[in-house]
Amino acid sequence: MALHEVVPGVHAWVQPDGTWWVNNAGAVADGGQVLLVDTCATETRTRRFLAAVDEATGGGPIRLAVNTHQHGDHTYGNSLLPAATVVVGHEHMREGLRVDPVIDGCPPLWEPVPDWGAVTRRLPDVTVRDRLTLHIGQRQVDVVHPGGPAHTTGDLVAWLPRERVLFAGDLVFSGLTPLVFMGSVTGALAALDWLAAFEPAHLVPGHGPLLTAADIPPVFDGIRRYYQLVLDTAGEGVRAGLTPLEAARACDLGEFAGWADAERIVPNLHRAYADALGTELDVVAALTDAVAWRGSLMPTKV
Ligand SMILES: [Zn+2]
Repeated sequence: MALHEVVPGVHAWVQPDGTWWVNNAGAVADGGQVLLVDTCATETRTRRFLAAVDEATGGGPIRLAVNTHQHGDHTYGNSLLPAATVVVGHEHMREGLRVDPVIDGCPPLWEPVPDWGAVTRRLPDVTVRDRLTLHIGQRQVDVVHPGGPAHTTGDLVAWLPRERVLFAGDLVFSGLTPLVFMGSVTGALAALDWLAAFEPAHLVPGHGPLLTAADIPPVFDGIRRYYQLVLDTAGEGVRAGLTPLEAARACDLGEFAGWADAERIVPNLHRAYADALGTELDVVAALTDAVAWRGSLMPTKV
């Protein structure tokens, strides 16, 4: 993992290989102060990130931290931030983390079972519904919600309009399988057009390598085709009376078979089914079916 200086004073923490629980984060520094975008899943990974930020930014106080969404790979490390740091998140993100059972004990769906270390639930101090503008030194950071469910129901991006850097959170998985089961497949698809309209010079995805402006169209087109495959497979599966797991087993992933975390086809189909049928999605059941599809626990490195 390494801190990449995307433009002067704007850093992306990129953790290979970007699979389950291995996220990207960021830091914006100016005037001796720091704003973070997300933390990491575990105590060890978050301390490593904070030490790298300290070194790169001269150890200025972390005044603000933005959570792009509720998932633990981006938020469990919140509790390691200084008490004085103001944590910002979407109102649905705050509620999602408040009731998240996984921080108290991860279900045995991954191998090894993640060990979060000494982290506790730390919720945002400030919640956002639509948008908010933050200032760190002379820099402006716009925190914006895509307008509806996408990766989750409480996604935010952090946009630096002057530097044209977009921290997209998990609205973008770069080079590996996207996960949308706690949001919306159609919403995540629409969010790609919304993200492209920022016309970023640099995009920091929630997982996977950094993107420049030239990378964005082909990467987004691949993600669009994947979401369309999920929607088509769900439509056929519902008509044929298949369960999401059966539909996943019948689905040829084609060009996406090589993307890491391919088993996410199963929870993604659970989401598409739930939206098509107007039912509630059971998170643990969706992930348990992903394990069944793989025939083994899901791999992780945390
Ligand atoms: Zn993530």
